[in-house]
Amino acid sequence: MANIGVDILHAATLLGNNNLVAIPTETVYGLAANALSEKAVVKIFEAKNRPSFDPLIVHVADVAQFEKYAQNIPDIALKLAEEICPGPVTFVLDKQPIIPHIVTSGHHTVGLRVPNHPLTLQLLQTLNFPLAAPSANPFGYVSPTMAQHVQDQLGQKVPYILDGGSCAVGIESTILDFSKGNKKVLRLGGMSLEFLEGKLKTKLEVQTSSSNPNAPGMLVSHYNPGKKIFVGESINKLLDEHAGEFADARIGVLAFRDYQPEIDKKLQRVLSPSGNLTEAAYNFFTMLRAFNTLPVDVVLAEWLPDEGLGRAINDRLKRASTN
Ligand code: AMP
Ligand code: MG
Repeated sequence: MANIGVDILHAATLLGNNNLVAIPTETVYGLAANALSEKAVVKIFEAKNRPSFDPLIVHVADVAQFEKYAQNIPDIALKLAEEICPGPVTFVLDKQPIIPHIVTSGHHTVGLRVPNHPLTLQLLQTLNFPLAAPSANPFGYVSPTMAQHVQDQLGQKVPYILDGGSCAVGIESTILDFSKGNKKVLRLGGMSLEFLEGKLKTKLEVQTSSSNPNAPGMLVSHYNPGKKIFVGESINKLLDEHAGEFADARIGVLAFRDYQPEIDKKLQRVLSPSGNLTEAAYNFFTMLRAFNTLPVDVVLAEWLPDEGLGRAINDRLKRASTN
């Protein structure tokens, strides 16, 4: 079992010796290794069972570090980063040669991010290298938002988990591609499109895997809690449409605001009774994960309003319901 604690120096020593450490961020927990060491980074892919074509995000202490690891950074990207970092956003930029190919899955770009969590920022300031860190879950599974989630799934494979409590945002970072003259969104995430467009004073092209299957690492099927998931306009509509199919099935419900009256409350999770999308994002992965151990055969979920963080949650619901 992994040790869990708040010892930053212990975490730094392990990382300095090419070991893995799970780290808290405001989005989800990351499985971190020295991004400049191939020997360390390979352990991330092994522990997660992650395919080598899925690139890792590189975490740095502040935007001043971007130029060490990226080049040809457009002014608009740097200006935006200075304004909104630390925060739940990743910048894809042309990489500097110092970043090993294993981190970027052979791409000439690197994803850089300044995570907004006091423990991890302190850790990054202690280190003299950046941290490559994908979400700290086995590949294809639900992302962890508490130290215990990491312990449950990867506890045998990671020596130390830095415990920073529950992740404040709860879904992964928004990924913005500013490489090679691009200005587009590769993944919807914890920083809303509306907010970013407001900062940039321009519309952004959204090119996630649904519109571009070649986007690196944006897998169509993801976030699997181990149960079959159906998503629809409303739970009622799903029950009507699939009545025959669900006749003998034990049904779980992941609703936005309201419990479904005819289903046992214990088998239901409500993301935000007040209809707050930020709260829904905070609860999303913990509630999705719960269905893994609840006695249900299928999970019925409803789409959230397609705005703000609702868009990012819907994107994850879509992937969670795709086999
Ligand atoms: P995770 O940290 O598990 O949420 O996954 C990191 C994701 O970041 C990958 O799956 C990619 O979608 C994205 N990413 C990381 N590096 C790059 C890059 N160089 N180009 C495009 N996307 C990237
Ligand atoms: Mg992930």
